Amino acid sequence: MIPFVDVKREYHEIKEEIDNAVQRVLESGWFILGEELKKFEEEFAKYLGANYAIGVNSGSDALYLSVKALGIGRGDEVITVSHTFISTVDAIVRNGARPVFVDIDPETYTIDVNQIEEKITKKTKAIIPVHLYGHPADMDPIMEIAEKHGLYVIEDASQAHGAEYKGKKVGSIGHVACFSFYPTKNLGAYGDAGAIVTNDNELAERLRMMRNYGSPKKYYHDFIGVNSRLDEIQAAILRVKLKYLNRWNERRREIAKLYNEFLKDTGVITPVEKEWAKHVYHLYVIRHKERDELQQYLLRNGIKTQIHYPVPVHLQKAYLDLGVKVRLPVTEQISQEILSLPMFPHLSDTEVEKIARVVKDASNG
Ligand SMILES: *Cc1c(COP(=O)(O)O)cnc(C)c1O
Repeated sequence: MIPFVDVKREYHEIKEEIDNAVQRVLESGWFILGEELKKFEEEFAKYLGANYAIGVNSGSDALYLSVKALGIGRGDEVITVSHTFISTVDAIVRNGARPVFVDIDPETYTIDVNQIEEKITKKTKAIIPVHLYGHPADMDPIMEIAEKHGLYVIEDASQAHGAEYKGKKVGSIGHVACFSFYPTKNLGAYGDAGAIVTNDNELAERLRMMRNYGSPKKYYHDFIGVNSRLDEIQAAILRVKLKYLNRWNERRREIAKLYNEFLKDTGVITPVEKEWAKHVYHLYVIRHKERDELQQYLLRNGIKTQIHYPVPVHLQKAYLDLGVKVRLPVTEQISQEILSLPMFPHLSDTEVEKIARVVKDASNG
């Protein structure tokens, strides 16, 4: 059986370094808001070419706190996509604001920049583009529109650690950016973790308090915050893994290239990398008209796949009584056709070849 993802292989490559890092924290007796987090925040910000990173509990919290810290709430609207992981949109709703959905570009599966402006109203406060699957959204037009209408841009970079837009790392372009370090992400912790990235000093300060009960100083509280911190053990693990991120992203790109070559003359549509983009292939997503049959065929042949995502957010049960009625033709169609093949740095060439062969067999026969 070829797994969809296997983080154990990665652990075994770097076991000694990880074990040492964890032990260092255990021996220190300091587990929350210490030196490991401080160093990781500096190292991660530097890696992205941004000023500040603020470690939080998860990618979902990063999004929720970013929306909140920008003062977005009841009566406000935020433009985003429906073709994403649900917590992009939950962050808006949990703050009392209304999500306004824009369809996606059929090549990159990221927000269709030509459909943003028509959705802007007096209530619009922000745009949340998602760098989905590891491919950046088209940031220049997004930043232009935002500037013209006085809106914030919150990048959801949870699937795009190290991806680049016109030579710049994603997460360093918008007013604020959110990362998830869920274990299977390109940079993953061994538990829940996330970060918010910004160049804005004031916003960074506010977020640092917000994740820690609104506290500037122990037992003094300036506003009502939350408990959402990236703990020292996870920070120490992330510091080790950050050093491998570029190498592992390159390996993902190599695997994608192999898949692309093997699948060239088949009935499947393979991922696109725009000339302005550096794709980091968090997921390798193909499209096929008979997706469900293809997935079953692969499973019968020992290959596990997944669908990201089978139901767009605006059609999720949780969103039905929110009154967000909208037609998103591209989003709705591709959710029926997409299939994510196994993709992780420690997948072998032989495995990639086997997967591609089975896909080929299925789509030709
Ligand atoms: C993973 C992910 C999140 C949520 O991150 P968690 O750390 O799991 O809370 C948000 N948005 C996108 C696009 C994601 O892929």
